[in-house]
Amino acid sequence: MPTGVINETVQLAEAVIDLAAIAENIRTIAAIARTGLMAVVKADAFGHGAVPVARAAVGAGAAWLGVTSATEAVALRSAGIDAPVLSWLHRPDEDFTRLIAADVDIAVSNLTHLRAIADAASELGVPAAVQLKADVGLSRNGASGDEWPELVAWARKHEAAGSVRVRGVWSHLTNADVPGCPGIARQLSTFQEALRIARETGLDPDVVHLANSAAALAAPQTRFDLCRIGLAMYGVDPFGATGRRRYGLRPAMTLRSRVINLKRVPAGTGVSYGPDHVTDRPTTLALLPLGYADGLSRTAEGRAWVWLAGRRCPIVGRIAMDQCVVDVGDLPVALGDPVVVFGPGAEPGSPDPAEPTAAEWARWAGTNPHEVLTGIGARVARVHLHGEAATS
Ligand SMILES: *Cc1c(COP(=O)(O)O)cnc(C)c1O
Repeated sequence: MPTGVINETVQLAEAVIDLAAIAENIRTIAAIARTGLMAVVKADAFGHGAVPVARAAVGAGAAWLGVTSATEAVALRSAGIDAPVLSWLHRPDEDFTRLIAADVDIAVSNLTHLRAIADAASELGVPAAVQLKADVGLSRNGASGDEWPELVAWARKHEAAGSVRVRGVWSHLTNADVPGCPGIARQLSTFQEALRIARETGLDPDVVHLANSAAALAAPQTRFDLCRIGLAMYGVDPFGATGRRRYGLRPAMTLRSRVINLKRVPAGTGVSYGPDHVTDRPTTLALLPLGYADGLSRTAEGRAWVWLAGRRCPIVGRIAMDQCVVDVGDLPVALGDPVVVFGPGAEPGSPDPAEPTAAEWARWAGTNPHEVLTGIGARVARVHLHGEAATS
């Protein structure tokens, strides 16, 4: 567990990403799902660093990479990553030549984009690889109702004309992470009907995919050819268990810093803005150079803990933009001592206490672990470990 060592030469705080954990999680999920995997590296790989994570994921056997935007897709190509990539959100006036030239699969939800893609492909003289998205319940992107047969029919026409190749048909579930997955059967049958229409129209997609992390782990009927995995690849149980109990996942990110100031105070001392917190005894306050600009949500006030001096100590008072205060009581804490905000957590079955996890921070902040991970601010340096392990 990387609790003690911190790079002396750099910044106030760092997020250490263990790429070996990401590789191991991918192998774990592949063994459960028994399908191909698309490693979802959108939003800078949920804050873990898109390029190193993409390399580790492909090295560990992920067949595909998934991103939200042309910018994210092209960044992977610019880094020399040549694995298949699917990109799924486009500007209203997207220049699709960029994606076609970069050999990126383009998700298609509507006729406007399909037409623009076909035009861009004709201009370049190469067919665009597209993946048609059906909406099975989220009401976000994807074609629904009567739009679907129309989208499929036009895609078939463009395919016959040589401007597009329909490589995939796919969708996204609404709440696969709720145990028992309410609505999953209905969404699955909507998807199967969409797939039937596509095949009946003459399309023959190479990849059909519906499942995210939660469905990959727990809803076998949704797995098809590929599962798109985000959260679970980063080592967080999508069903909310803290630590790594149920599926053998290992959280890849450790957010750590150091004590930058220490203050011995009497009872009755106000701490941080407000003050919302007043000490009830003589105690020692340790200052951490991390705040909500770094991803420590203000809404975790009064509930959050960090790992310091071999135990969990509470954050007290309001979390500020750049700083927060930890009550360390009478523990022997020195300036510069390492602090872990969250990390892998306790070993399975271990009776020993350990640092909090991102899942616990999500609970304290009233959000999901995705938001905790993606919320880690840009000024927190990313440090990647075990890049070589990912490809061995
Ligand atoms: C973000 C995203 C995923 C990954 O979801 P997880 O629940 O984190 O596995 C999969 N598919 C799509 C379309 C997404 O936007």
